[in-house]
Amino acid sequence: MTKYPEWFPFLPLPALPAIYGLDSAGVVSKVGDRVRSDIKVGDRVYVNPGLSCGSCQACRRGDPINCTAYTFQGYFGFGPGSQQLFEDYPYAGFGQYMTAPVANLVKLPDSISFEQAARFGYLGTSYSALRKAQFAAGQTVLIDGGTGTLGLGAVILALALGAARIFATGRNTGLLEKLQALDPKRIVPIALGERPTAEIVMEATGGYGVDILIEALGPNAPVSSVLDSFNALRRGGKAINIGGVADPIPLEPFPLMCLQKSYIGSLWFTTAEGQDMAAMAHAGTLNLGVFEHEKFALDQVNEALDAVEERGGGFTNVVIMH
Ligand SMILES: [Zn+2]
Repeated sequence: MTKYPEWFPFLPLPALPAIYGLDSAGVVSKVGDRVRSDIKVGDRVYVNPGLSCGSCQACRRGDPINCTAYTFQGYFGFGPGSQQLFEDYPYAGFGQYMTAPVANLVKLPDSISFEQAARFGYLGTSYSALRKAQFAAGQTVLIDGGTGTLGLGAVILALALGAARIFATGRNTGLLEKLQALDPKRIVPIALGERPTAEIVMEATGGYGVDILIEALGPNAPVSSVLDSFNALRRGGKAINIGGVADPIPLEPFPLMCLQKSYIGSLWFTTAEGQDMAAMAHAGTLNLGVFEHEKFALDQVNEALDAVEERGGGFTNVVIMH
């Protein structure tokens, strides 16, 4: 296993000692005296950990995720300005209290539990990916790694948004069956390693292909699997990568141009997108009831990490409660 401080050199970590903890949800205990918002003490909220500087060119264009100093509070950053943001917001999820900009709070209706809200980081990543693909109701989606933590989120969001058909790949047939049971008519499970994914999708779509590919495979997945799924995209289709595959992918620019296919990287989601998801869950279109929560106390954090390793795919949601 890679030692954390030697992780990706382009992703700065907070100077130690640091308080870690991502995807926090809880109750507002104090509101800053210059906050102009409807957020008040006692409100239940999810904290989007994505911090931005507010003044770089991307921030001034209203595009905070592309801030040159974009930083996950309590985790890692993306630019040289991240260290300052770690210092500005040093208290993260594993602390008893945390500070956060009011613009990062997603107000939670009572119908969403804190355990479900702790899943918003993964869900939001999938939701933002579907939005970047300009997903429209009635379209078809292929979710590569559909039974995983990101993939399951993409499946339930595509269902919520009105996908006509959702092809979902996975290795574990038991989990694929469980996934298909969420909507047997619309979800088509594809067991990886049996037949090429592209072949199955093309056959099922009359040779047309899917409108959108959400690439959510983990870091150990082979590049051949990514290319196979990319071949299932229709002419003009968009592939959005939110997965962890780090090996180079041999994409051919000329066919890409002729077929007008896109391969887009997508990171995280905006707080507004988080609020959209809360509204969909409250309305009942987004089903957050699919998760099985495994709760741990803060001093059991190492056991929680083991549970993440052993978990039953994306259905298991490991949460630290305190
Ligand atoms: Zn900025």
